[in-house]
Amino acid sequence: MTDNVAIHAQGLHKRFGDLEVLKSVDLTVRSGEVVVIMGPSGSGKTTLLRCLNLLEEPDAGSITVRGRTVDCSGPRQGRGRRRLIRDIRVRTAMVFQQFNLFPHMTALQNVIEGPIHVRRLPRSYAIEVGERLLARVGLSDKRDEHPARLSGGQKQRVAIARALAMEPEVILFDEPTSALDPELRAEVLQAIKNLAAHGMTMVIVTHEIAFAREVANRVVFMDKGYILEEQSPSVFFSDPANTRIRSFLRLMS
Ligand code: ADP
Repeated sequence: MTDNVAIHAQGLHKRFGDLEVLKSVDLTVRSGEVVVIMGPSGSGKTTLLRCLNLLEEPDAGSITVRGRTVDCSGPRQGRGRRRLIRDIRVRTAMVFQQFNLFPHMTALQNVIEGPIHVRRLPRSYAIEVGERLLARVGLSDKRDEHPARLSGGQKQRVAIARALAMEPEVILFDEPTSALDPELRAEVLQAIKNLAAHGMTMVIVTHEIAFAREVANRVVFMDKGYILEEQSPSVFFSDPANTRIRSFLRLMS
């Protein structure tokens, strides 16, 4: 595998009871790449993201982040393995549909929590970095507000700053705008576009076609637990070979 691979998943399987949700999924994301995952509801997109950062452990397969591999097919014990899983979680930050901010903390406290308690950075340095990141997502003036006093778009931008504060290898976005009113979506999409312009590696589950066309280097289409196709956005949106993709895009537009 070449050096510039940020994250590599091989042969991922995941089932919930009798339901096989991922059926041998392979995905490689290179550093600086923006990969958009699309597909019908229930096709396994969220489960794939959660497996990539080991929030869910796959039943089989392996995840490699920056050359370090967790094998999910073998034995699951051991302190070394637990440490590796923790490390991969830190390096693959997740931004959720429902923001998942700590409600009792201010915007800044949400951003510096991980750097202080997980990365063990000195508080003063974490605050300096946190303030810079809030400025980067246009929220310097909301530094001391609690989530309840922020709009959905502002909450999601805090969540993006919080993800960045972990200095992850890759950020995984799970439908980051689907809980937002249309007028608030643009500000979050713009924040993500800015990250792309700065070379951040990202995997984004989204139904936002215009955004995907603009920001994606590659579009991955999932259906029934499989990756059915991977294409450049220009081919994916204009001339998809697969009839499943054609009908999906027709429904979405
Ligand atoms: P998508 O993101 O494409 O909508 P998901 O990955 O959320 O799909 O879900 C795929 C399937 O797995 C769905 O049928 C869903 O109900 C099921 N599923 C997801 N998470 C769980 C869980 N924790 N327990 C049981 N079933 C789940």
